[in-house]
Amino acid sequence: MLKVYRGEILHFLDDPDKVDLEQSYEYFEDGLLIIKDGLVQTVGNASELLETLTTDQAITHYKDGLIMPGFIDTHVHYPQTEMIASYGEQLLEWLENYTFPAERHFSDQAHGEDVAEFFLSQLLDAGTTTALVFGTVHPESVEAFFTIAQQKKLRMICGKVLMDRNCPDYLSDTPEQGYTESKALIEKWHKTDRLQYAITPRFAPTSSQQQLMRAGDLLAEYPDLYMQTHLCENDKEIAWVEQLFPESKNYLDVYDQSQLLSRRSVFAHCVHLKESEAARLGETNSAIAFCPSSNLFLGSGLFDLKQAKNHQINVGLGSDIGAGTTFSMLSTINEAYKTQQLRGDKLSPYQSFYLATLGGAKSLDLEGCVGNFVPGAEADFIVLDYHATPLMDRRMKHCKNLTEKLFILSMLGDERHVKATHIMGERI
Ligand SMILES: [Zn+2]
Repeated sequence: MLKVYRGEILHFLDDPDKVDLEQSYEYFEDGLLIIKDGLVQTVGNASELLETLTTDQAITHYKDGLIMPGFIDTHVHYPQTEMIASYGEQLLEWLENYTFPAERHFSDQAHGEDVAEFFLSQLLDAGTTTALVFGTVHPESVEAFFTIAQQKKLRMICGKVLMDRNCPDYLSDTPEQGYTESKALIEKWHKTDRLQYAITPRFAPTSSQQQLMRAGDLLAEYPDLYMQTHLCENDKEIAWVEQLFPESKNYLDVYDQSQLLSRRSVFAHCVHLKESEAARLGETNSAIAFCPSSNLFLGSGLFDLKQAKNHQINVGLGSDIGAGTTFSMLSTINEAYKTQQLRGDKLSPYQSFYLATLGGAKSLDLEGCVGNFVPGAEADFIVLDYHATPLMDRRMKHCKNLTEKLFILSMLGDERHVKATHIMGERI
């Protein structure tokens, strides 16, 4: 069955920093998005495509908004939803004082389902339709998350945290237990409907080398799995990793030795990468989740987007709830822009929206599946509203072109400016 949407449409075909700007995106001032059985059939100018439709075809017209692919969040912790905005600490103390106690409750699947329901509603309200998500150490947390994501027909990736040391007993597994529990979840959920599994060592300090090796074993057994973890977020954390793994060349090397680097590996933060680490991420096609709101909130530092680009590393944006302070990718772009300003670098509006959509899809090895409107892509898309708040409405009156519109959307926009979210072509 055909579903047809009309309005102003924007999507990306490539990285605006890599190719000519005009080649990197398609923009239709009066466009048509035609969807067949939940998948994009075609996108283009309404004047041309209307002729191809039968006269009785229903068309949903979004006037005065911008249709674009749903946002992609490449790093977020759903169990931390209820401890967002916890005061006063940097990474390691913040984990101990706030995060671990909050994660304890996820041994109870009913609690997990309750939080997952709220979390996913928040994501969808903010226009995020796909995310790479941390559970807790409890398999129940992932059961809960996938159960709710499946009900909502979402493309989501999640995994059980592996953590066998330097954490409270109530959040600890063992290398064997982590392996077995992950494997059972993979067998049940990986590639079930739109769900995929990610091997999820929290970060090097909370896993023994033995546990990381077992994580590598799982990736070898199931080559299309994801791997998500944290890397080079905070100075104290990096010094601690050097102490814990004296035989490693650098932080990234700890993961590398356990065969955890691949095109489906996503490393959150990477705020303090050595050149050799950046080079290795590029060589292995690994991706970085750039989490500006979290990096500022925890005082971790200013991510060097230029360095990542120089090494051809795929980068996506991450909200990193609950160290991040917003579910909104528009607000996340706002913070990303400011971090680059503080570095003396510019983040263009095109690069921003690329990172939030196709850049995220590439980072998750999902290009062609989500992130833009190429034929056959899953039709998850949103409609941004230029007039949802009086301030943006007023500012838009002085706006001359698409570049300005996008920039204003990302500087003044948030959940309020997401007028509609669609999953597989259906408005939710
Ligand atoms: Zn995180």
